[in-house]
Amino acid sequence: MPQVTVTSMARGADGRMWIGTQNGLARSDGQAMEVYQVNEFPALGSNWIKLIQVADNGDLWVSTLKHLVRWRDGRFDVMAQREQIGEVTALSIDSSGKLWVAADRLWYFDGVALVQYDQWQGSVRTLVAGANVWVANDNNEITKLTGSAAEFLSWPVEPLVVRQMAIIKQRLWVATSQGLYRSNGKQLERMTESPVIALTTFGDALWFVSEQGVFVWRGDHIEAQLLTEEAGNFTLISTIFVDENHAFWLGSQAHGARYFWRASYAQISTQDGLSESSWSLLPEKNGLLVGTNRGLFLGQKDEFKRVVGANQIPGGVGYALLRDSSGRLWVGTREGLAVQEKSLWRPIKELRGQQVNSLLELQSGDILIGAARGLYRWDGERVGVLAGTQALVGKSVRSLLEDNSTLWIGTENGLKEWRVGELTSATLSPLAQEFVPALLQLQDGRVLAATYQRGIFIKSLAGPWRSLELSRGLPTQGAFGLFEHDGWVWISNGDGVQRIPVDQLEAKNPMLQVVYFDEGQKLGRSRLRCCNGGGNGRAVIDDGYAWFSSLAGVVRIDTNLPEVKVPVAKVRKVLDVGKSESRLMKDLEVHYSVLDFRNAQQIAYRYRMKPYNNQWQEAGDRRIAYYTNLPPGPFVFEVQAKQAFGRWGPVASATIVVEAYYYETLWFKCLIAALVLIFLYGIFRVRTFSLRTRSVYLAQEIQARTEQLETMNSELERVNKKLHLASITDPLTGLHNRRFMTEQIGVELARMKRQRQQQQQVQSNNVLGFFLIDLDWFKHVNDRYGHGVGDMLLAETASNLKKACRESDMLLRWGGEEFLLLAPDSNPSEFSRIADRLRRAVAMAGEKMGLPQRISASIGCVPHPLSLRSDIDNWTFTLALADYCLYQAKAAGRNCSVTAVVDDELLSTYREAKITSTELSSWRDEGRLNVRVLESLDTP
Ligand code: GH3
Ligand code: MG
Ligand code: MG
Repeated sequence: MPQVTVTSMARGADGRMWIGTQNGLARSDGQAMEVYQVNEFPALGSNWIKLIQVADNGDLWVSTLKHLVRWRDGRFDVMAQREQIGEVTALSIDSSGKLWVAADRLWYFDGVALVQYDQWQGSVRTLVAGANVWVANDNNEITKLTGSAAEFLSWPVEPLVVRQMAIIKQRLWVATSQGLYRSNGKQLERMTESPVIALTTFGDALWFVSEQGVFVWRGDHIEAQLLTEEAGNFTLISTIFVDENHAFWLGSQAHGARYFWRASYAQISTQDGLSESSWSLLPEKNGLLVGTNRGLFLGQKDEFKRVVGANQIPGGVGYALLRDSSGRLWVGTREGLAVQEKSLWRPIKELRGQQVNSLLELQSGDILIGAARGLYRWDGERVGVLAGTQALVGKSVRSLLEDNSTLWIGTENGLKEWRVGELTSATLSPLAQEFVPALLQLQDGRVLAATYQRGIFIKSLAGPWRSLELSRGLPTQGAFGLFEHDGWVWISNGDGVQRIPVDQLEAKNPMLQVVYFDEGQKLGRSRLRCCNGGGNGRAVIDDGYAWFSSLAGVVRIDTNLPEVKVPVAKVRKVLDVGKSESRLMKDLEVHYSVLDFRNAQQIAYRYRMKPYNNQWQEAGDRRIAYYTNLPPGPFVFEVQAKQAFGRWGPVASATIVVEAYYYETLWFKCLIAALVLIFLYGIFRVRTFSLRTRSVYLAQEIQARTEQLETMNSELERVNKKLHLASITDPLTGLHNRRFMTEQIGVELARMKRQRQQQQQVQSNNVLGFFLIDLDWFKHVNDRYGHGVGDMLLAETASNLKKACRESDMLLRWGGEEFLLLAPDSNPSEFSRIADRLRRAVAMAGEKMGLPQRISASIGCVPHPLSLRSDIDNWTFTLALADYCLYQAKAAGRNCSVTAVVDDELLSTYREAKITSTELSSWRDEGRLNVRVLESLDTP
């Protein structure tokens, strides 16, 4: 609360309470308190809140010291200022929803602005609006305004100070300094006498606060709701607000605001005449009998008185109670057992000194006594150990239940079964070792066994014991008392009282309602208040109430409990707490809560933010969820609430849209992707370009090299040709040399062969003529004129010889001063003429040189082939023969030519390619070779 002085209260459309104080306006859901003050909401004008009023549409009207303000959707708007309309003294909504304002005059809100109500020109001290508007003026005179008419109410006394007014069923209630008044026609009647501080209505009931407390007029009677002394130190009440639960808020001038409701439970203890601790309960015709530390008490509701003194029963503590069918009252105590018959008390000596825990009357009329050291039976005459239960002697029997022929015996050390005089104890039963403080047979026949520490077990008629799966629902695993009532099984234990619907007992996770939670005294069992147990009759139903024995009197609970309501969570607000200027909702506080003004601290929450986190987050009693740096996108925040031991309530949700940072947006990502693509494409292009450039360069390089190579190759070829030409050419004469002849003769001979084959028959004139020419006495030329002249003569001779040849002839320098002429397609008959022509060419060369000496030559002439049958390819023989002929020409005196005619027979037998001149001479001598000197031009 912003301040402790409460001036006014109202409830908002969503159930949250607005509270006006002298230092700001506040709103509460039972836990969180929102404060509205001038520094944050300047429209308020002042923090001094005078009046607040909630309109039918949820708008809140606030009158502060300075302004009349309207709040709507978190926004305050100034609707009027005090300078304009004076001090606002009352706000009221009429039955049509119109706001009426008591200020310097009577005003109303027409939906847009405040309008002065001109039918009323007087002052307005206070007002109330319903079907009509009732106005009290400064003189405390009250007028009912009905349209244009005005109806004046008359006081039975001098007009009293009117503090507040209210309307119920067209009748006006007036709070004055001297009591509560009500209109009756045109009269005002006094209803109460003490000064009325505040009043309000709920339905047809009028609630008012006087110095005595809070009261309500319902119909024609008055009920006290809260007496001043019950409110303790909560004093100086200034205002009251009532809700539909018949609960109410009080605002104080000094203690803030407080919520009051009627509890469904009460603890009846010493102040109600009862002893401090109670142990056993027995519903009787004239009330509830309670066994306490100091005897037995009888009473109803909250008035008890002692009916049996402590000294009348052994030890004084009423620990177990039973009224048998014969009217005897059996009282078990911590030290024994007594029975009252016809107001006479008789102790049972067999139980002397033993604590009696449970008493049970069997169908047979026998009384069973569960005691600290065994199970006893009273058969109408004697008390003794129940037959067949000797095994229980020395053991503490706590609870007893007769189920047809079976007797269930709950001990501190296991549940036993007694049937037809025999005691059985199923060692395999889950209850074999348990402390069993209470047993209960349901109306449908099922049996319930409560254990001290392992919850409750349930047994169907023929089935095994099954544990009630309460591990997640029960505040404690112990159960001390059980009863069935109105479709519920009630359970009492050290933590209070819970109940479970009978039809859910065997459900996997039964609903459990915490009826009463004894939270304050959990430090140590010695301070335990509710509830005691450990025997029959610890928890009973009587007179419409459930009763429980406890360490602080008895606990009484209204069985007509309100329906179990699961708490309904609401998302209150979503705050962007991000530090950056841009409000992107990245960092969030989500405020949620349940509207609960009673036990809000017992409410647990869980929430999740889908789809960011689909798992529920257990939040305990925290009512804010924090998120930081949420990714962009739409989210659904969901929250649920539950009571401490209850079920989850409905899901409340809020949709939250988180905006993206620019770098989280799709277009930005696309842009980046596009830039990357462009970049990659650029790299690709650059790379392609460089590769292309490189390949072009390489291609050019290859071409250049190829061209270079080609150039070099052709150069080489040219040089080679030149070399070859040089190698087959005689440099002095320009004629081909002997090597050329060896290369070319094959070509010529092949041509000859082809020619011969084509011509079918060989023509004798068609031969290749060999003319071997040697200059005569050339040595002398050198000797006489020098080598240079000799060379010149050789060149001149070659030139002349060339002129003397045919185009198809082949003239060679054969070596030194020797020449060879190969004359294709020659006729041997012409050899003489050819030889002459050659010799004349030689002679002319000498003449041309102007040599004084006559130059001549000798020539050997041979046709090839030598005969028609000789081998064309064997030209070396022909050449050797030509050389022989040349030699014969020299021998014949030079300057002549010699030809050879060879015996065909000789040739046909001759096979050798080579032949010496000696052989040839011998052949000549044998006459097989005929050498003939041809005619010479001029014999020297
Ligand atoms: P013949 O043939 O009539 O018996 O007498 P010859 O002087 O011609 O005798 P031989 O064949 O013995 O001598 C050839 C001479 O030719 C020898 C050599 O000095 C000369 N001779 C050979 N080749 C060349 C050449 O290229 N230039 C010159 N100036 N002289 C050459
Ligand atoms: Mg020679
Ligand atoms: Mg010679």
